Amino acid sequence: RAHIRFDEVGKEYPDGTVAVAGLDLDVAQHELLTLVGPSGSGKSTLLRMVNRLVEPTSGRVLVDGDDVAGVDEVRLRRGMGYVIQHVGLFPHRTVAENVATVPRLLRWDRRRTRDRVAELLSLVHLDPELHGPRYPHELSGGQRQRVGVARALATHPAIMLMDEPFGAVDPEGRRSLQTEFRRIHDDLGTTVLLVTHDIDEAVLLGDRVAVFSQGGNLEQLATPATLLSR
Ligand code: ADP
Ligand code: ADP
Repeated sequence: RAHIRFDEVGKEYPDGTVAVAGLDLDVAQHELLTLVGPSGSGKSTLLRMVNRLVEPTSGRVLVDGDDVAGVDEVRLRRGMGYVIQHVGLFPHRTVAENVATVPRLLRWDRRRTRDRVAELLSLVHLDPELHGPRYPHELSGGQRQRVGVARALATHPAIMLMDEPFGAVDPEGRRSLQTEFRRIHDDLGTTVLLVTHDIDEAVLLGDRVAVFSQGGNLEQLATPATLLSR
């Protein structure tokens, strides 16, 4: 778990905009695939078709062989973490409570939730009990994104969908977050789709890099080493 296949996937919005055009793409389990390309090249749309925030107008998205269109949306999203550029934290809940959001919805018992939250906060190098901020407003942008990553990982999702997750973090903080996220991915073995417009980030983080152009066309799909040697 979990392999993702885009099978001739297309998305045309009602106004006629073609966001994704006839995409065939396989993402191996445990792969970290980065999606890079100019603004408007369909990267976000592509990501959102995996968790059904957007429905394709042609083709199918398969997770472990099952068309996501036939999977209950709640069950589908439970198995996937989703991190966007500005993660929305609950301002009146502590950092730990924010990370515990989904375990609580799932009624994990208190001890299991507490242990998991502690584990996650240390994974993303943020331990509010020992030092530092307790509430979202006390956090820097980079710390907020760390909390967002921790929250998304809380229930051991097999898939992480990340849309410019480090885009709003200042340049110094961004590099350390990128490196740490790469380490976290190596440890957890989650399948990751990560959208960025930063080619350096795409090359640094990706096992493979998918390069998109306007109209949602996949121009290149290559390992960082191959891309860099061109
Ligand atoms: P990217 O993530 O690469 O910036 P998007 O997937 O956000 O690309 O957008 C791809 C294209 O689809 C763009 O032309 C964008 O304006 C358009 N688009 C995105 N969302 C919608 C929508 N809800 N309705 C109409 N057009 C949209
Ligand atoms: P804006 O009008 O740009 O959203 P805000 O004052 O709401 O300005 O937010 C300033 C910064 O704090 C933004 O980068 C935003 O992403 C972040 N931010 C605000 N609220 C939250 C929240 N609840 N969770 C995470 N980040 C937040």
